[in-house]
Amino acid sequence: LPLPRINCQGRQICLSKDPKDQRLRSSLLIDNRILVDCGPDVYTQLLRAGMPVIEAIIFTHRHGDHINGFKLNFKEPQTAEVKLYGPKEVFKRIRNEYKFKNSAHIYKNGEALDFDAFTVNPLKIDHEGLDNYGLLISTNKRLFYAPDIEAIPKITLEVIKEADILVVDGSILNGPHYGHIGIDRLLEIIKPLNKETYFTHIGIGNPPHKELVKYVKEKGGDNFNVAFDGMELEI
Ligand SMILES: [Zn+2]
Ligand SMILES: [Zn+2]
Repeated sequence: LPLPRINCQGRQICLSKDPKDQRLRSSLLIDNRILVDCGPDVYTQLLRAGMPVIEAIIFTHRHGDHINGFKLNFKEPQTAEVKLYGPKEVFKRIRNEYKFKNSAHIYKNGEALDFDAFTVNPLKIDHEGLDNYGLLISTNKRLFYAPDIEAIPKITLEVIKEADILVVDGSILNGPHYGHIGIDRLLEIIKPLNKETYFTHIGIGNPPHKELVKYVKEKGGDNFNVAFDGMELEI
């Protein structure tokens, strides 16, 4: 991600004309008001979503594809009220380059963040030695979102057994690769949970969307799927 890559001419996924193979960096908009991660494409993503009023941003970790859109797009007086949630490392990195006025809450593993209609529990996920979290979003149903996974700690795996929907790291088919476990291995781990599952954070090392959907369904079963930009899920 993003796809297609600039100047990439060899990869099938970059040459694909399927609109689902055009991908911006991974992000999630909950209840049209809470943003998960704020990558370089956030402006375009919010524009496509109809420019909703953002009340809060929850960051998963400090990598650029998850935070680099903040400084450029949230420095107006109108966005100073946006509440920020994340691991300490995220705020340290953002503050180095931009003295934002927003309130910043450093969350802890398992803590319940309350957003009225739903709660969000950050759950530790290993990823390149960073302070990185997946988010369990709970309302009528429970959705677990973890775009960057190198390994799932046992305690986190126990908790996500109670989730209904999983949206997880699909960066590359065969990992591990720079902090990403790979779809093959991750699929082995989560298949026994038997959940509605979507791979996201799709990278250049994958086949085009249609082929990848076929692949994960053959390997994992019919409840496995591949996310695409603009996809909506109800919980
Ligand atoms: Zn990352
Ligand atoms: Zn990432």
